[in-house]
Amino acid sequence: MAQPKYRIATIGSHSALQVFKGAHDEGFETIAVCKKGSERPYKMFNAADEIISINSYKDFPKIQNQLIKKNAIVIPHGSFVTYMGYEEVEKLKVNYFGNKKILKWESDRNLERQWLVNSGLKVPLLFKSPKDIDRLAIVKFMGAEGGRGYFLAKDEKDFNKKIKPYKLRKYVLQEYIIGVPLFIHYFYSSLTNEIEIMGMDIRYESNVDSLGRITARDQILLPKLDPSYVIVGNIPVVVRESFLPRLIEMGEAVVKQSQKLAPPGLFGPFCLETILTPEEEIYVFEISARIVAGTNPYIEGSPYTALKYNVPMSTGRRIALEIKNAIKTNQLKKVLC
Ligand code: AMP
Repeated sequence: MAQPKYRIATIGSHSALQVFKGAHDEGFETIAVCKKGSERPYKMFNAADEIISINSYKDFPKIQNQLIKKNAIVIPHGSFVTYMGYEEVEKLKVNYFGNKKILKWESDRNLERQWLVNSGLKVPLLFKSPKDIDRLAIVKFMGAEGGRGYFLAKDEKDFNKKIKPYKLRKYVLQEYIIGVPLFIHYFYSSLTNEIEIMGMDIRYESNVDSLGRITARDQILLPKLDPSYVIVGNIPVVVRESFLPRLIEMGEAVVKQSQKLAPPGLFGPFCLETILTPEEEIYVFEISARIVAGTNPYIEGSPYTALKYNVPMSTGRRIALEIKNAIKTNQLKKVLC
């Protein structure tokens, strides 16, 4: 039987430009689902062959029948879970690249931690209650709001003072690790059972990455100045080569563990968010089980993908290639779970 003509669709935000460019490079037509008013980049960069406009991202499930009729394969990115919630994403009927069952594990900080710990990775300490804070702690609020309002506390008293404006919010208290935050982009193929390092980035966050631009003397004059972690953009980075063997093993370990937690496990793109200390310890504070925006600087490929591929291979293109290979070998079901 002839294969239907599949199209690649995603929400117009986050890493959609990259996903669409990669889809075009592999010969797919593309559909952008945009919130009204955010269509322009997808037209300007010839990214979308078709645009479906919706009033709110929450309306995505309402247009999925249109996508199903067009044989669309939806590529999830950060905006899906953030704007729709993982339960809504889990209910989608349209073809979806990836394993939806893994979303629960990355969306809940406690489950995520269990996943990382059981994979044998080093994670920052977690304080059960403010009275347990015995070193510098980062107070993180639940729900992805991009680090808005996070603050540091050195003990219970400091915490009680700083939590006042956020009294009703749910939070976690994590040991603050001083080191270089490094975000490692992986791709695991469920067709070949191989892991690849696609690239790495450092996030640029406001205002924490700007504090070093004013001296401590001036910082002291601003008693209400607290660091915040609102992401502004991503900067490419290449890690010291001797770290690579450990980073590869870490990626493999989370995939292996995911196969126990949510069969058939994690596949496609994912990211480990880490901090590397001067003692060369690698702490993992988060995992994203999908394409991350830190891959966007590598639309033309990264130094790592340049080693492996003879064409510019972004993570977006790698996804399209995986889908193409799955179609060619009659294994499409294996990549749509
Ligand atoms: P998250 O919401 O967990 O992605 O964290 C947002 C930002 O806070 C990260 O990009 C880091 O810059 C910082 N951060 C998070 N957790 C820690 C930690 N345990 N130690 C140091 N910095 C952290």
